[in-house]
Amino acid sequence: MTDKNRYADFSFATRAVREGQVRTNEGEHSEAIFPTSSYVFSSAAEAAARFSGEQPGNIYSRFTNPTVRTFEERLASLEAAECCVATASGMSAITATILGLLKTGDHIVSSRSIFGTTTMLLNNIVAKLGIETSFVELSDIDAWEQAIRPETRLLFLETPSNPLTELVDIAALAEVAHRHDCLLAVDNCFCTPALQQPILLGADIVIHSATKYIDGQGRCIGGAVCGTQDVVGEGVYGFLRSAGPSMSPFNAWVFLKGLETLKIRMKAHSASALELAIWLEQQPEVKRVYYPGLPSHPQHELAKKQQSDFGGLLSFELNGGKAEGWKLIDETQLLSITANLGDAKSTITHPATTTHGRLTPEQRTEAGISDGLIRVAVGLEDIDDIKADLLRGMR
Ligand SMILES: *Cc1c(COP(=O)(O)O)cnc(C)c1O
Repeated sequence: MTDKNRYADFSFATRAVREGQVRTNEGEHSEAIFPTSSYVFSSAAEAAARFSGEQPGNIYSRFTNPTVRTFEERLASLEAAECCVATASGMSAITATILGLLKTGDHIVSSRSIFGTTTMLLNNIVAKLGIETSFVELSDIDAWEQAIRPETRLLFLETPSNPLTELVDIAALAEVAHRHDCLLAVDNCFCTPALQQPILLGADIVIHSATKYIDGQGRCIGGAVCGTQDVVGEGVYGFLRSAGPSMSPFNAWVFLKGLETLKIRMKAHSASALELAIWLEQQPEVKRVYYPGLPSHPQHELAKKQQSDFGGLLSFELNGGKAEGWKLIDETQLLSITANLGDAKSTITHPATTTHGRLTPEQRTEAGISDGLIRVAVGLEDIDDIKADLLRGMR
């Protein structure tokens, strides 16, 4: 029914444009959208064979949908994964990974520097089911190993972290995970497979919020989980088809078109972010810039080793505090004041009073989120216009 991996021998950019498409008899050039909730069988016997699993094929779009499958096969190819399942959101991709693979009594070790809602999911919902999480410092491999218990099943992280762009050596951590019989899951939202392929570095599972760079223009909510047929195709998919957070074919279509331009967009985001980071370091009002592409970044060498570029996300600390931070943000005319990222439109946020606003001042200090910290997700506008927009409120 599909010719999966037809482009396996081609390079990344070609697979991003071509992999996964199956043309209908209409001969459409662009991928078709299949907005259908169910599929018709030619006979009662065929229906029975599909339901029993004897005959492969579509039954119902909570299980499979051709547009969603095109997206899944394309992303699996780009992440060097055997298998990918699409989900309704990035959060449901994380939920499906945990609930599909873990049970009561199991234990998770997670980086402390993860998406705020993921922390809430682990502490408030996953914990209620008797699955406990220990949080460790992202870059400290020894701390990860010390936190592992006999019942630990999963290590979970994002690299680089948001907003301070801290990294962990994925290959080194994968070795620790496997020595203790644990799965390593990487939320690859910020780099995307265009810049970093965690599975090639030894990770078992790659999680995405497709909402961000995979969409690339801030239109749809979606997610995905990539890994082996056994872990993702059985374990995670088993949860999805029964629990139900599947991706709509419309969103899958937007995301699979996003994959076609992912590599050139990530290159452009990275080039602009690097130029902005270098420029910010030269401004007298700026105390410190956090960007893995800067030679001043403490993990610059690791970033060069495990990423092919440095991404669109940076943050910087002003000499002042909250008043100066808010002034800079409020005087922008171009940048969008919004927490989203991975958009063609540049976005600016004040982490201390938004994404990290629920932390106590002590927790914020421990996490390195000062009142003068500003995060910018650099978009695709002209870089000189972005600099001018930031300069307006800086002086
Ligand atoms: C946004 C985000 C998520 C959650 O994704 P949604 O699509 O909003 O559910 C998870 N992880 C990271 C790193 C994110 O930035």
